[in-house]
This record gives sequence, structure tokens and C-alpha cells, in this order.
Amino acid sequence: MRSRSLGFIFIAAVIVPSILLAVLSIRSAGREEAWMEKQMAATLDAEVTHAAGLAGAEVGRVIDDLRAALDVPPGGDYGRILSRWKSSTALVAVPFMLSPRYGILWPPSDTRADDEQRRFLRENGTFLSDRAATTVFQNIAVRYQDEILAETSRAQNIAAAPQAQGESAPATTDTEVTAPPAQAESAPAPSTVPERRAASEAQAGAAGAPSARQMAIDAFAQSPGIQTRVYEEAREKGDQLNARVVEPMAKDRSAAGADKSLPAAALRDEAAKPAPALKALKKSAVPAKEQPSQFVLTSRLLSQIASQGDSGLIPRFIGEKLVFLFWERQKDGRIAGCEIAASAFRGRIAGVLTSTWSPVRILTLLDENGEPLATPPDAAGRDWRRPFVSREIGESLPRWEAAAYLTRPDSISAQARSSSLVIWIMVMILFVSVAGGGTMVLSSVYGELRLAQQKATFVTNVSHELKTPLTSISLFVDLLRRKGSLPRSKKEQYLSLMASETERLTRLINNVLDFSRDNGARRYTMRTVDASLVSGQIVESQRVRLESRGFSLSFERAALDSLVRADPEALKQVLLNLLSNAEKYSTEKKEIAVTIARTPASVVITVRDRGIGIPEKDRERVFREFYRVDDSLSSGVQGTGLGLTIARRIARDHGGDITCAPRDGGGTDFMVCLPAMDEGEAPA
Ligand code: ADP
Repeated sequence: MRSRSLGFIFIAAVIVPSILLAVLSIRSAGREEAWMEKQMAATLDAEVTHAAGLAGAEVGRVIDDLRAALDVPPGGDYGRILSRWKSSTALVAVPFMLSPRYGILWPPSDTRADDEQRRFLRENGTFLSDRAATTVFQNIAVRYQDEILAETSRAQNIAAAPQAQGESAPATTDTEVTAPPAQAESAPAPSTVPERRAASEAQAGAAGAPSARQMAIDAFAQSPGIQTRVYEEAREKGDQLNARVVEPMAKDRSAAGADKSLPAAALRDEAAKPAPALKALKKSAVPAKEQPSQFVLTSRLLSQIASQGDSGLIPRFIGEKLVFLFWERQKDGRIAGCEIAASAFRGRIAGVLTSTWSPVRILTLLDENGEPLATPPDAAGRDWRRPFVSREIGESLPRWEAAAYLTRPDSISAQARSSSLVIWIMVMILFVSVAGGGTMVLSSVYGELRLAQQKATFVTNVSHELKTPLTSISLFVDLLRRKGSLPRSKKEQYLSLMASETERLTRLINNVLDFSRDNGARRYTMRTVDASLVSGQIVESQRVRLESRGFSLSFERAALDSLVRADPEALKQVLLNLLSNAEKYSTEKKEIAVTIARTPASVVITVRDRGIGIPEKDRERVFREFYRVDDSLSSGVQGTGLGLTIARRIARDHGGDITCAPRDGGGTDFMVCLPAMDEGEAPA
């Protein structure tokens, strides 16, 4: 009963918590990959944002360089001035000049024009003469700036209200705007001069208050809730949303776009109605699972664009090709500008990335077709449309992206696999040690319990065993006293029975005393002893008692010399213990034989009986202290479980041993082996 409850306690306190811990650890190992991917995405997102910022800033520098190289004095010969401008910088492909009212002054439309100029006029003529609008890209956060700021301040008011009432505000709200990011995330490089000035002013005074434009961009970037609502509103208002050219792989892209928040249906709708200018492009350039761009399409006439500043860059899609038009208003109201040379421009933008390759990632800029501006090394066979993280650069470089790829795409899962393998192994080791250690503790506790139980039984058994010979002795003393005129032979018999019982009593007390001594503490008085002689004496001392109880007792001496070196008293104790067992564990067939035999090295005293026998599994256990094959009092045989323990201890102290074996025809043989004395050894 007690041991069963111990088992329950062990299961509840050790096994169950260990299993729970193991399951928890293994589950967390499973999430390792997602966690590592998230960490990597966050790191690369910062790099990509920085790269996008650099590329945007480079557009500003290109504008500055073009302006610096262009000097059109009023009334000058613009044909010559423009061609000088073209030859001064590789950025100018086809220069143009417009009158203040958008008349095309240059390039000439007559026969003086070369093929390049004719192509230019064909593609841009109606736009430059302000007769056709062009598609311009506008940051959706800027377009819906007012709505975003209104929502943000509403959210802040809501968040502040409970605090005013002494309640704690929720930690984050859907639309809450936390600290502004280090970089102007997703902020497109302003492409007109006043815009750039405003932006730099805003940055200079950033410690005080960021510009409304920047606040809206930040709020949009940080809140998926705002993103959802803004995209929905844009759809309702019929804005043309545009799909991105890439499909980033990292799961956590909340900062990079609103892909998670935009309903899938909305995405499909938008994909179904592409911007007219992008129709051809979309077919070839957009991956199956589309990303919404952060930039909405609007149509603008050149006059509308030019009214917002003094100079700028107008990206225009001509079919699938993206061309960049630079313009600058001159003091006399004319507008000079050029189509920018694509390769020089791409070279300038690509040049902002100093480190495109590292063992961890490849960083690059993608153009409107999702092709890298400069192919980084180790790029063979890479799907450029599937970056790990990417970010749109801005309005001035529509559909261009800064993108990062994992150098070894499987490295995260390999790393995660190996670290979860380590966790698995550790969990297994822990589990095995907890279970193994626990089981060992449990079994030793069980062992202790069993021993305690055996000791308790031992005390009861000892008292019984002591009582039995005492009762016999006092019975014979009584008989001798009362019946004074007993025949001599009867008297002899009673006295020898009394001697035998006294011997049993002595043996019992010796056993208990021996056992209570520490191991090996017994002192032996070693002498040269003839094992046959000692055995014969013991057999004879027990003969009367055993025969009076119906036993037949035989003794067979060794044919050869049976000298051993032994303590005769200890040897007697061994034989008495064995004879006593043979007597106790015999039932119907009461037949005991003691034989002495010689092997080259030892003298073997065998005590054989026809008793109940010892099951095979118990043949070694019977030598353990307190061990009894049947320890119940109801077995009818009293014992302490010490007789064989002590007998074996004595035999081993003498350099020999005791073993037992089943006897042919039923019963048990106990063999006491003692090292025989060499022939030449002088008896002491
Ligand atoms: P006990 O005082 O119980 O006899 P022992 O150490 O002498 O203690 O013996 C241990 C157990 O071995 C006994 O309880 C009994 O079950 C078994 N045993 C010993 N001798 C014999 C035998 N001759 N025949 C059958 N069983 C025996």
C-alpha cells in the first residue's frame, strides 16, 4: 500500500513534470525556425530600408548634378547650350527645351532631328507639350495623410483618456504610433527641390516635430490597422493600386508592406484592373501572389507637376520601359530638361550599395522589371522576384525595390534544425537522467522499505525461534525432575535432547550476534581442522534430536584427507545452520545426508535433504540477509533469514563459499567448499 502511493508520488512529482517540460522544450524547438527567420527578417529589413534611403538620396544628387551642369542664359542659343550640356555629363540622353507655355522649342521636329530625337518626341511629345497626362506614383500614406493623422490623433486621445481617469491605458492599440523609426521608413526621396528642402528642414528640426508628411508615413508603416483602412479607402475612391514586382519570403513583413492586412479579395480585384500604363508590364512582371505597392497611381499633366517646384524628375512608363525625365524651370520661365541616359542613371543608383554580398545575405536594388541593377556575385540561378525581405524605394523610382536575399536560403532551416536537434538531445538526456535517477531512487527506497519490513518480521521470528528450544529444554527439565526413577536410557535421551536444543539456542544467539557485528569484524581462531571430524561431531550431536523427530540421518566420510584451515566453532555454526534448515524445510520425506568429498583444491561438505526445495529464482537470494522464500508466519516454519547469510559469510571468510542446487529426486543440496590444505602443509 505504502509502496503504491510512493509510486503515485513519483509519477506526479517527477515523471509528469518531466514529460511536460520535455513537451514544452520540444514545442519551443519547433518554433526555433520561425523565431530565427523573424530575427533575420528584422535585421535585413533595417539594411534594406537603409539601402532604399541611399538610393532615394542618390536620385536627389543626380538632380543636383544635372542642375549644376545646366546653365541656360536668357535668349541664348539653346540648341548649342543643350548639346554642350549633353556632352558635359553622361546622364543626359536627349535634352529638351520648352517655352513657358509648354511649346517644344527643342528638339526640333523637322528634318534637323536625328532618330533619337524623333523617338523622344514620339514618346514624350504630347506630355511635354502639356496635352496628355502621365502616370505618377504617389505614396499612399502621403495621399491619405490627413486621414491617417486624424486617425492617429483619435487613437492617441482614446489611449490618453483612461489615463486621465486614473486607469491604465492599453499597452498598444492597433493604430498606436510608437517612437518614430530611425530612418524615414519608406519615405520616397522627394524629387522636387522644394520638397527636398522641406524634408531636410523637417529632419533638421526633427527633435521638435517631424513633418506631417513624415508622421503619416511613419504611422502607416507601423500600423497594419491603418494600412488596411487606407488601402480600403483607396479602393473605394477608385485609386489605382499597383502590385509589387517582388514577393518577399520572410513571414513577418508588417513593416515592409500591408500584405497581411489587405484582404486577399482586394488584392485579386486590384490585380484584375491594372493601371493602363502598366498593362503590358503586369502581365510579365508580376508574380502570382501579388503584393500591394505602397504607391498609388495618379495622372498629372506636366503643368501640374511643374507647378509644385522649380525642378524635378518625372519617371514615365513607355510601354514596359521606364524612362526618367529631368526638368528645371529657368529664370525666364522656359523649362529645360532631358531624358536621362538609362545606363548612366542605373550605374549611379547601383553605386550606392557598397557591400552587396556577405556570407549571410545578398543585397541589391531591383528595377521596375524585378531585375537587379548590378548582378551581385554568387547569384546564379537566383529568383530575384523572391527576396527574403524587400522595400519599395519611393515615388521617384517607381516599382524599384531594395531587396535582400539569403546567401544560403536553407541556412536558417539548417541552423534551426541543428539547434532543435541539440534541444531534442538535451531533452532526451534530461528525461533519461530524470527517469533513470528517479527509478534508482525509487528502487532504493523500495529496497529500504523491504528491509525495514524484513527487520520487523525478523524480530517476531527471533522471539519465536528462541522460545521453541527454551520450551523444549524446560519441558525436559520438568520431566527429569518429576520422574526421578526414569530408566537410564530415557534420561540419556532427555539430556542429549536438552543438549541439542541448547546447541540450537546457542546457534541462534550466535547468528544474531554475528549478524549484529559489522562485516568482517568477527575474529576467527584458525586452526588445522579435519572437516570430516568436525562434521561427524555435529551430525552426532544432532542425531538423537533429529531421529526422535523421524529423520534418518546419514554421514559419509571422505576417502581422502580432508584437512582445512578453519575456526572449528565457525565451521560448526555453518553446519548447524545447514542441518537446522534441512530439518525445518523437510515435510514428508525426512532424510538428511551429510557427505564429505575432495576435489584437488577443496574439501566439499554437502548437506542434502528431501525437503521442499528452493525455486531457481531464489537460489541466490536465499543468501541475502533476512531473505526468506516464504516469510509469512502462516508458512509454519520459523526463521530469521540470517542462517544462510552468516553461513556464507563464514565460508567466504575462510576463502571458500556456499552454493545450493536442487537434489535429484527432490530436495536441496547445500555445498560448503573450503580450500583444502596442501599435503605438505604442517598441521598447526
Ligand atoms: P531461515 O531462518 O529463514 O531458515 P536462512 O537464511 O537459513 O533463514 O534461509 C533462508 C531461506 O532459504 C529460508 O527461509 C528458506 O526459505 C530457504 N531455505 C534454506 N534452506 C532450505 C532448505 N534446505 N530447503 C528449502 N528451503 C530452504
